[in-house]
Amino acid sequence: MKLFADYHTHTKYSDGRGTPAQNIEAAAERGLSEVAITDHGPRGLGIGVAGPETFLQIREEVAGLATLLPDIRALVGAEAAVISSDGRLDLPKEIINQLDLLIAGLHPYYIPEKLGEALLYTLPNLAARFNRSAREKMRSTNTKALVETVHSYPVDIVSHPDLMLPVDVDELARACAGKETALEVNTGHNYNKEEIVRSAARWGARLAINSDAHYPETVGELASGLALVERLRFPSEMVINAVH
Ligand SMILES: [Zn+2]
Ligand SMILES: [Zn+2]
Repeated sequence: MKLFADYHTHTKYSDGRGTPAQNIEAAAERGLSEVAITDHGPRGLGIGVAGPETFLQIREEVAGLATLLPDIRALVGAEAAVISSDGRLDLPKEIINQLDLLIAGLHPYYIPEKLGEALLYTLPNLAARFNRSAREKMRSTNTKALVETVHSYPVDIVSHPDLMLPVDVDELARACAGKETALEVNTGHNYNKEEIVRSAARWGARLAINSDAHYPETVGELASGLALVERLRFPSEMVINAVH
């Protein structure tokens, strides 16, 4: 299997270190033909972009680079955070509609929109990080929230399922099956991703293998994800960034 794209990278517009140009150049140097700049949505605590319109600014900047870096196609998207138990994202649909790619994911630290949501969703999720029984309860809440997100937004990729906050990966894969939404095999975080691949195979959901790079140096570093899907014999035609 060969990969031609890395659809999840961050720049200094959110919590990454490089510029969009550096990420795009790094991807081209790795031999990729596509790369996406996907900074964090604005409500990520200490990690988000300045505001929703920042994505339009990034889009303009990347469009201006096209003639300088002609060998690679650069997409501009966002990694939006799920910020409520009914699956709302921290980015308005008017902005999402102007982006090439939408990644949605659960992140523990963000600024809630309403006090009610903070008490019922945000804070219990934080508590669940340190308490096993609370964790199991939040697994079902988070899964429902993510499934709702997948149904109500044009989500291309669900980032790092079951990484920082618990999710029923099998249930998520079932919701993504038959849709354009891929589950991510995230090579930037070291955790057990076998269940993601197995569940995607079980239900016929797609996968995306992404670096989640926060430095230009790690853009396109996808080898561990590739090795995993190959070891589990996941079909390449169901990997959205694989050549087939
Ligand atoms: Zn993330
Ligand atoms: Zn990310």
